[in-house]
Amino acid sequence: MNRFDYVRAGTVAEAVQAFGAGARFIAGGTNLIDLMKYEVEKPGRLIDITRLPLDRIEDSGDGLRIGALVTNAKAAYDDRVAARYPLLRNAILAGASAQLRNAASTGGNLLQRTRCYYFYDVATPCNKRAPGSGCPAIGGMNRIHAIFGTSAHCIATHPSDMCIALAALEATVRVSGPQGDRSIPFSEFHRLPGDSPERDTNLAPGEIIVSVDLPESRFPQHYTYLKLRDRLSYAFALVSVAAALELDGDRVKTARLALGGVAHKPWRNREAEALLEGKPATRESFQAAADLIVAEAKPQSENGFKIDLARRAIVRGLEQAAAGTPQSLSDKRIQ
Ligand SMILES: Cc1cc2nc3c(=O)[nH]c(=O)nc-3n(C[C@H](O)[C@H](O)[C@H](O)COP(=O)(O)OP(=O)(O)OC[C@H]3O[C@@H](n4cnc5c(N)ncnc54)[C@H](O)[C@@H]3O)c2cc1C
Ligand code: SF4
Repeated sequence: MNRFDYVRAGTVAEAVQAFGAGARFIAGGTNLIDLMKYEVEKPGRLIDITRLPLDRIEDSGDGLRIGALVTNAKAAYDDRVAARYPLLRNAILAGASAQLRNAASTGGNLLQRTRCYYFYDVATPCNKRAPGSGCPAIGGMNRIHAIFGTSAHCIATHPSDMCIALAALEATVRVSGPQGDRSIPFSEFHRLPGDSPERDTNLAPGEIIVSVDLPESRFPQHYTYLKLRDRLSYAFALVSVAAALELDGDRVKTARLALGGVAHKPWRNREAEALLEGKPATRESFQAAADLIVAEAKPQSENGFKIDLARRAIVRGLEQAAAGTPQSLSDKRIQ
């Protein structure tokens, strides 16, 4: 590890003021410290934000405000989250391990970096880590990589489970920075790689996440978070599906679908959601939506299997959501 300054901030304003070139905020440290050990990240200054008063979950009108320092465990086991946003709860509990969830924060989860093996290996080129150096995953080992929204510069996936649920629930991210405070809709928070894959999000330099705001709860009855991975626990998603439905009798009134493990950001397809709305909540409708979504997929040399996996996971996720029988947290297989 290289040498760095350490500053502990007492207020959000102090944290923003302490920021400068090469500085990083640190919350749970479960991703940043790993990256520092691998020398992927070499901050000149660590700004410890763990004492900031951002560790509360509060009612906000019809919705809920989750402070950036609320741990993943605290969010998942909060009674209001469990009752009103069970999709979020299930997505959080599908991620990492109990120990990690006790340390990992809401803000840090949004900003955790890709798990692309080349990104972690400083002996290899990587456009995300060293802009302009190349992307060895293209034509290399890319079984875990993206099938949607890739560019010639990067095909990495976004790793978070929680963010897939937040995308489906249309959360908003509140941030504070040198230019003041602003709210960013979740769909605009993360970026596709384009020609600047080193930028994962649309945060400006020095901006700190203050909270994640959930709108009115609309899907506590019909939802599922289906995560498919190489082993039953403690692994990142190959494909995941956050599905949330509002039903009117046997018809779909509102549909929200977000996919994980398949793109550089939580992947939504509004056309597929619109296709479902007004249709009967049947396998046929769900298959039509899944077909529309995967029609856009562009496989790499080793990850073509994700297309059929995603198609089947979408159908299963929607069926589970419609039936009101979310997948058991311990059974993550798909037949
Ligand atoms: C072995 C292992 C398995 C894992 N499995 C999963 C999994 O299956 N699913 C999953 O979703 N995640 C998984 N994770 C990732 C874990 O959820 C993240 O590491 C964690 O959420 C990051 O939160 P943190 O508070 O520790 O962030 P930190 O490591 O402290 O920070 C991460 C990044 O966020 C920035 N940051 C933190 N807070 C703020 C803020 N408020 N404002 C601005 N910037 C901020 C930091 O500067 C840093 O760049 C796994 C991690 C490990 C180590
Ligand atoms: S996919 Fe992205 S993160 Fe992975 S090697 Fe290529 S540029 Fe780097």
